[in-house]
Amino acid sequence: MDGMIRTPISDWPEADALVYDDGVKARTDHLYARVKDVVTPMEWPVFAPLIDAINRLKTERGAVILAHNYMTPEIFNCVGDITGDSLKLAQVAAEAEEDVIVQAGVHFMAETAKILSPEKTVLIPDMKAGCSLASSITGADVRAIKAAYPDLPIVTYVNTSAEVKAYSDICCTSSNAVQVVEAAAAQWGVDTVILIPDQYLARNVAAQTDIKILTWKGACEVHEEFTPGDIDELRAAHPDAVILTHPECPPDVMARADFAGSTGAMAAYVKERAPKKAILITECSMSDNVAVENPGVQFVRPCNLCPHMKRITLKGIYEALRDMQHEVHVDPEIADLARASLQAMLDLPRLATPPHFDTGKAAPAAAYVSV
Ligand code: SF4
Repeated sequence: MDGMIRTPISDWPEADALVYDDGVKARTDHLYARVKDVVTPMEWPVFAPLIDAINRLKTERGAVILAHNYMTPEIFNCVGDITGDSLKLAQVAAEAEEDVIVQAGVHFMAETAKILSPEKTVLIPDMKAGCSLASSITGADVRAIKAAYPDLPIVTYVNTSAEVKAYSDICCTSSNAVQVVEAAAAQWGVDTVILIPDQYLARNVAAQTDIKILTWKGACEVHEEFTPGDIDELRAAHPDAVILTHPECPPDVMARADFAGSTGAMAAYVKERAPKKAILITECSMSDNVAVENPGVQFVRPCNLCPHMKRITLKGIYEALRDMQHEVHVDPEIADLARASLQAMLDLPRLATPPHFDTGKAAPAAAYVSV
């Protein structure tokens, strides 16, 4: 903790004691105007007192709130200071002058924020906000892979723990995965790269490049749930809609979509093309948040909620700030190694616009590392 003088905890009431009065209404009406299409008038009097308290408290605490695209719209749009995908959040937070970061997202994202801002206090509203992908692999697994394949580079998706990043050679995001795989192959002078832990992202990347890819049996429990039948049903019910998928979806789902790319690429597509109707095959809240930015687009919402993301609530954010609780720590040695893997990715040339995946290219069968 730094030497800032902060309001004693007792000056702020329990979350349940906050009320929707005229002052709160006056201070939050402009925020409701922003989210009125995705938050009901019944919900707002419950959300507004917490939103108002969080926004005042974060100024007192010298805090910045990072809100991931999968946060519910009242968090993403009404208390988030920096919004976007996990890496953008951590990168921008590192440059922010506030010395407290509240991560409205899951645990690996808070770790990434801590890795890139080791001198700052990083809080997460709920320590149990995990991730099926991040928990599919451990640092020991990566060390075993490294021992079995010493001549191949290990590219690791950012949706992993600090320890997993630490024992990898370079990180990637769903946006730059193809670029990173090709750069790693060129740098190591090999035609095969290990891309872990998401087997579907790995196969979808393999469809876009001549580099052979070995992977791990991890998956995002949200995107894995979508089936080709879901897409066929949506297409039949909404023939006028554009269907966009995330590359964490299985390849046979992605092959049926009109467009595939990272959350950033999907949001950019909707903004630039302004389709009449859009279907985002990803986490539910993403559609709500893209809808706020694009009021002229009609969204069909085939919903798969991420139970881990949904552990983050306004009440949890308020209590984290009020009590300065749930601080995230990363072992400094692990943080240094993980930062090097992130930096190796950041050192690659920046892509001007988020690239998309060609959904017409067939993905090969999965080839797994054997350890
Ligand atoms: S949406 Fe998937 S990858 Fe993201 S936190 Fe949830 S389980 Fe993990």
